[in-house]
Amino acid sequence: MTAAGHPRPGVLALQGAVEPHVACFRALGADCVEVRDAGALRDVTHLVLPGGESTTIARLSALFGLDAAILEGYRAGRLALFGVCAGAILTGVDDGVRPRRWGLLDARFERNAYGTQLSSTRRRVELTPSARAGGSASFVGAFIRAPRIVAFGADVRVLGSSNGEPVLVEGPRILAATFHPELSGELRVHRRLLAL
Ligand code: GLN
Repeated sequence: MTAAGHPRPGVLALQGAVEPHVACFRALGADCVEVRDAGALRDVTHLVLPGGESTTIARLSALFGLDAAILEGYRAGRLALFGVCAGAILTGVDDGVRPRRWGLLDARFERNAYGTQLSSTRRRVELTPSARAGGSASFVGAFIRAPRIVAFGADVRVLGSSNGEPVLVEGPRILAATFHPELSGELRVHRRLLAL
């Protein structure tokens, strides 16, 4: 929380689908910061790592010292995170494959697990009761060259699944989605992030 006690969301804005997340936070009545350097991260309490190209986001984050600042903020308990698709990949366990994962969420992500851009689909995402927040039990999610969660640890909970596979998970102060809730007019995941 900021000094005033309000959440101050940010979106890592180096590459990828930044704008739709800014729009989600606006719709929730929260002022949102586009984060391009470590200075802008200082006042942010909740950060979206957006979808895009994980290799590019990893490279630019390292170039601007943002990867270290995000790790530091998360580990110090100052920053809650939501990794979306490419951003989710980066939060995972480093298994020696490029791009190097940041090891924040105890989960392993296989990149491009469903194939190329041509295999991108809309699929129904079923939410667990705790993730429904009084709303619908499912919605249609956009899976765009999506990764697959191939393993996750004991402190990671599944909040959403599609075709029986986990696609939305939560760890301590961190959410990860293999699809794009921000492209479905779905605000519940962003609202949940702000409550972390
Ligand atoms: N395929 C991309 C990657 O591996 C992720 C795609 C996305 O973020 N929609 O980085």
